Amino acid sequence: MELPNESFLRVLRETIIQLKSLGHIGISEIPAPSEPKSKSQDVQNASKQQLMARLKHDLVDCQLCKLCKGRTKIVFGEGNLDAELFFVGEGPGANEDEQGLPFVGQAGQLLTKIIQAIGFKREDVYIANVVKCRPPQNRDPEPDEIQTCMAFLIRQIHIIQPKIIIALGKHAAQALLNVSTPISKLRGKFHEFNGIPLMPTYHPAMLLYNPGKKRDVWEDMKQVHGKYYQLMGKVPPKL
Ligand code: SF4
Repeated sequence: MELPNESFLRVLRETIIQLKSLGHIGISEIPAPSEPKSKSQDVQNASKQQLMARLKHDLVDCQLCKLCKGRTKIVFGEGNLDAELFFVGEGPGANEDEQGLPFVGQAGQLLTKIIQAIGFKREDVYIANVVKCRPPQNRDPEPDEIQTCMAFLIRQIHIIQPKIIIALGKHAAQALLNVSTPISKLRGKFHEFNGIPLMPTYHPAMLLYNPGKKRDVWEDMKQVHGKYYQLMGKVPPKL
């Protein structure tokens, strides 16, 4: 009998860990990638408000990973439950940890400007992070933390059913795409998450200390704008 190769076993191991994480928060089914935009049974049977409230309740006092030890508040995410655009960041910083809200510091103000630059209001979109608790001293979230917390993000995406996902920074992009490719190589073109177009771009915090990257982000966001109107079957207004 032919033995499974190492990459197959790695994918299998990662899938088992992910399914265990999903099980922790009561998810027993994952929508089929071939039907990403169809209303799944649970979304039909309960309102988005109910589903999101249930998920938020499941997160209260979450201690599934070691990030629970240093947090002040869990940063669940916020925005329009009917959002067409879903922005995914990395994790809470000091301001977010204190207020329990995503992207409220300087990087958050810049994200608001980016959203407005393509003709949306911040209230139109949904914003959440890959990890919901602040990593100590703003260190990068570790793979086990991302893997555990991703189950909540996947559930949020499943409830919102956005038209486009924008992954802000390498951690969001790599986690959602399950790759280790640098963000500089991922950005600039659409990928897919469960059949939903996903545009990776630089994190707004990076733009604060490297403003030279703003042009790249603008190019990525122009593509998001174009794709959105294409999906809506409309001619995009000039930016
Ligand atoms: S980061 Fe996510 S999985 Fe870890 S304790 Fe916080 S909410 Fe739970």
